[in-house]
Amino acid sequence: MNPLSEEPRIERPPGFAFRERRKGILRRESEWDLHCEEVALPSLAKKYGTPLYVYSAATITERFAAFESAFRRIPHTVCYSVKANSNLHILRLLARQGSGFDVVSGGELERVLVADRRAAKRVVFSGVGKSKEELAAALKAGILLFNIESESELWMLAECAARYRKSAAIALRVNPDVPAETHPYISTGLRKHKFGVPVHAARELYAKASGARQLRVTGVSVHIGSQITDVAPFAQAVERVADLIGELRADGHEIDFVDIGGGLGIDYQQRALNFQDCVRAYASAVTNPLRALKVHLLLEPGRAIVGPSGVLLTRVVYRKENDGKRFLVVDSAMNDLIRPSLYGAHHEIVPVVSPAKARTVGREREQEIVDVVGPVCESGDFFARDRQMPRVEEGELLAILDAGAYGMSLASNYNSRPKPAEILVRGKSAKVIRRRERVDEMYAAELSAAD
Ligand SMILES: *Cc1c(COP(=O)(O)O)cnc(C)c1O
Repeated sequence: MNPLSEEPRIERPPGFAFRERRKGILRRESEWDLHCEEVALPSLAKKYGTPLYVYSAATITERFAAFESAFRRIPHTVCYSVKANSNLHILRLLARQGSGFDVVSGGELERVLVADRRAAKRVVFSGVGKSKEELAAALKAGILLFNIESESELWMLAECAARYRKSAAIALRVNPDVPAETHPYISTGLRKHKFGVPVHAARELYAKASGARQLRVTGVSVHIGSQITDVAPFAQAVERVADLIGELRADGHEIDFVDIGGGLGIDYQQRALNFQDCVRAYASAVTNPLRALKVHLLLEPGRAIVGPSGVLLTRVVYRKENDGKRFLVVDSAMNDLIRPSLYGAHHEIVPVVSPAKARTVGREREQEIVDVVGPVCESGDFFARDRQMPRVEEGELLAILDAGAYGMSLASNYNSRPKPAEILVRGKSAKVIRRRERVDEMYAAELSAAD
C-alpha cells in the first residue's frame, strides 16, 4: 500500500500521544486523553485556560539530536533559526544542547543573549535589511558570522566595524536561482526574490570585501526557502555554492564556512515519514557536493526542530450552521496562529478527549464536514475549511497540531486579543514559559506615550 494514501496519523510521538483514563467506580468505561509527554492536555487547559500553546521538551531535543546525528561525519554547527519560535526558554533549552542560533533582527539577537550570553559566539546574523544599530549590537556581542546580502550592507558593516574597532567575519548570501516547491511567500532562492546576491555577481563582491580591513571574508551562505520537502533543490543549491567556493579559493579567499540555511520541511499530514530518515536524506544530499572542500558546515533549521513539538489548544465556543454549512467557532484565532490564513497551510486538528482507542481516536463519533473558525472579524480567520472531523460539541477541547513553528512567533494582538500563554512540558512537569498576556498590557504603551 502506498504510504501516502494512508490516513494522517494523529499522534506525534514522543511528544503527543493518547493515553487511556478509566472512568467511574467500576472503571470499565474509559476515555483517551491527548497527552503532552506525561501531562494530560485537559488538565493544562483547566489550569491555564485556552488558547494555549503547549510544547514538548523531549520532542525538541530529539529533533535537534537528529540533526546532530545525521551530520556527525562533517564538522558542523546547528544554528537554530530563532524566528520559528523565539521563546527564551526554548532558546535556553536548545543552547544547553549546544545549539547555535540564526537571528534576523536585533531583537532576536537580544533574546539569544538573554537566554545564554555564551551562545553569542555561535550566532549567525541573516536578513536583507540589518540596520546600523543592529550591526553594531552584533559586533559588540561578538557573533560568529554576518550573512551579507548586498554591497551597501557590506560597506555599512565595514563602517560600523571601524567605528567600534572590531573585525567582522562575513559570508555573502548568494542567490542560487533554484526553484523550490513551496508556498510563494516562503520561497527565497530565485533571481526575482529580494534575498542574497546573484551567484555570478558574487566573485566581484568578494573581491571588494576582501579589500576592507575590518572584514574577514570567511564563508558562503545560501537559504532557498522554507517548508521544502524534496531534498533535490537543496542539493542543487549546494552544488552551485561548491562551484563558487572553488572559484573563490582560486581567487585567493579563505573560505572556512558554508552556511546552507534552513528550510527542511515537515509533514503536516504526518503520513508515514520517519524524521530521522528525512534528516539523513537531507544530510547526504547537502554534504555530498561539499565532501572534498574541507569546510565547517552551518545549518539553520527552524521549523523542522520546533514545528511538531507544539500544539495550540483551543475550546469550541459555539457550533453554528448556515444553510447547511457547519462551523465550529473556537476561542483561538488567526492572531494566535496565522499559518492557515497567510499560506493556506494545513494543520491537523483533533479532539483532545476521545472515547475510542488511540490509533482511531474519534472513530466512535459521527464524522462531519466543518469549517473551524475563530472569532476575528475576517473571513480569512480560519484553521480548517471543509474538513472531515469527528463531531465535537460546544465546550470541548481541540488540539491544532504541529503549531510549534511560526505559531506564537507570528502571533499578534489583532482585534485586541491578548497573546496566549505558553507551556513547556518535560515528563510530568509543565512549566509556564510565557504567561497569558493581559488586556491592559496591550494598551500600556499607549497610556504611557508622551503627548
Ligand atoms: C527562516 C529562515 C530559516 C529557517 O527556516 P525553516 O524553514 O524554519 O527551517 C533559516 N535561515 C534563514 C536565513 C531564514 O530566513
